[in-house]
Amino acid sequence: MIRHECGLFGIYEHEDAARLAYFGLYAQQHRGQESAGIVTCDDEGMHEHKGMGLVPDVFTEQQLCKLPGRTAVGHVRYSTTGRSSFSNAQPFVAHYKGMDIALAHNGNLVNCVELREDLENRGAIFSTGNDTEVFMHLLVRALRERDLPEAVRETCAQVRGAYCLLIMAGKTLVAVRDPHGFHPLALGRLDGKPVFASETCAFDLLEAEYERSIEPGEMLIVDEDGERSCRLHGLLPEKPRQCIFELVYFARPDSYVFNEQVYLCRKQMGWQLAHESTPDVDFILPFPDSGVYAAVGFAQCAELPYEHANIRNHYVGRTFIQPTQSMRNFGVRVKINPVRAMIEGKRICIVDDSIVRGTTMITRVKKLRELGAKEVHIRISCPPVKFPCRYGIDFSSRGELIAATHSLEEIEKKLDVDSLHYLSIEGLLRSVMHSDSYCLACFNGDYPVRCSRGEGKICMGKGL
Ligand code: SF4
Repeated sequence: MIRHECGLFGIYEHEDAARLAYFGLYAQQHRGQESAGIVTCDDEGMHEHKGMGLVPDVFTEQQLCKLPGRTAVGHVRYSTTGRSSFSNAQPFVAHYKGMDIALAHNGNLVNCVELREDLENRGAIFSTGNDTEVFMHLLVRALRERDLPEAVRETCAQVRGAYCLLIMAGKTLVAVRDPHGFHPLALGRLDGKPVFASETCAFDLLEAEYERSIEPGEMLIVDEDGERSCRLHGLLPEKPRQCIFELVYFARPDSYVFNEQVYLCRKQMGWQLAHESTPDVDFILPFPDSGVYAAVGFAQCAELPYEHANIRNHYVGRTFIQPTQSMRNFGVRVKINPVRAMIEGKRICIVDDSIVRGTTMITRVKKLRELGAKEVHIRISCPPVKFPCRYGIDFSSRGELIAATHSLEEIEKKLDVDSLHYLSIEGLLRSVMHSDSYCLACFNGDYPVRCSRGEGKICMGKGL
């Protein structure tokens, strides 16, 4: 399983902002389950509550009542820089010359090692290992001579990598997406007022209307004068390089991300996969939930029966929450159980969205073999993941990736399957509408933004 990084939510000038932020984060819980936080703002200043765990565990009715104000930003987190601890929970709040600033970040800054060293050399003190704190330091320094929007612009000119940001200070809310647009950030409208979320499923829950995606390199400023959009840098815009894994796996299928409907993209990936390689089997078997949508497209294109013969225990958390290898495998077993009567003597084709480390799939195939499956074939609705991600997704070292260290035949053997086929990069790009705007670095090693210090290095490492 793969870790996401974070989910963002922001709302401007709406009564009950904290409660709406709570539900906006609740809808995006899949994007981060380590910590959750909401910061609101009223005439008295900022009010915050953060904690470790799931959104409903972190917030109670009483805590929401202690978050007054009509503007709010919220965050759910997985760590890619900085360890999983309360001090790294977001939004970050800083106080500078009577101004309160709250910052929520989704992404990974690839030059934060140098930036942090430089700041420390100039006397800055850090309380976390999080790249978001680096951004906050730079922002506060820029605020000495500029107003908030100009300070944000100046700060973004210094950082490189993936960042979606929601920044709240006084009666101003600023939404930013990096020039490559690695991660999604959407603008919606609730009772005429702007709302922001990483994914539009948050808008659906609030009955807000999805308006558009914040563009790569766009900064949208909302304040008492209204809303205005501008480009981040005075330079020509970068070519968009949006994370295609959002469409393959991360985002909820009912969301629009990058102006694409995720469900339809996944179904199309399954359709393209069946075009490329359909084995002679009795039925298609998805593994809920992530593999289901590609499996539907695959079965329809291949005109093969589709059987929901894996039963999910809905009360078990995602397997990657488990910190150790052995617990991970336990998580797979406890989460999904195949229907014995459907498996014995059958030729089965598993359709799933990705194989990263391979550990989950080994356990799944082993179980099907134990139940008497005659043949097990695997079709994967994305290309082999051969390169680590530098931009906020937790497959950070090549050694962890089964496709980076094994040939197709070796993977087939390791998984103990009769055949294995991955969707081609061309097939993947045929499954989306805006095919020239995606990052494919984890498949082809073509990194749009290089790390300054050493390949394979996530900025600060997880131990910090
Ligand atoms: S390297 Fe892969 S996971 Fe990372 S941003 Fe690019 S497409 Fe997404």
